[in-house]
Amino acid sequence: MLHKQMKSTESSAAPRSDGERVVPTKKAMAKDLGDAAMYSACPICHNIFEEDDQVVACGNEDCNAIYHANCFAKLEGTHCRKCGLKLK
Ligand SMILES: [Zn+2]
Ligand SMILES: [Zn+2]
Repeated sequence: MLHKQMKSTESSAAPRSDGERVVPTKKAMAKDLGDAAMYSACPICHNIFEEDDQVVACGNEDCNAIYHANCFAKLEGTHCRKCGLKLK
């Protein structure tokens, strides 16, 4: 007769519920992003993009917020204004 001892298996690697998702940004020229940039506005200054603007795009595929590089530099904590994820 096997008598297994039920040891309480403490999972030390509990998933962090407060784990912050960090998404990479994509740096590009506005014209490289095509319509995505031409038909959206910067969430910070609310201005549209010029073809030759340096832009930073949120790496979250569901978000795709596009910022002016200058505006992005001013973004505190680099949390995306649109999706709230941390950008790096
Ligand atoms: Zn801007
Ligand atoms: Zn975003």
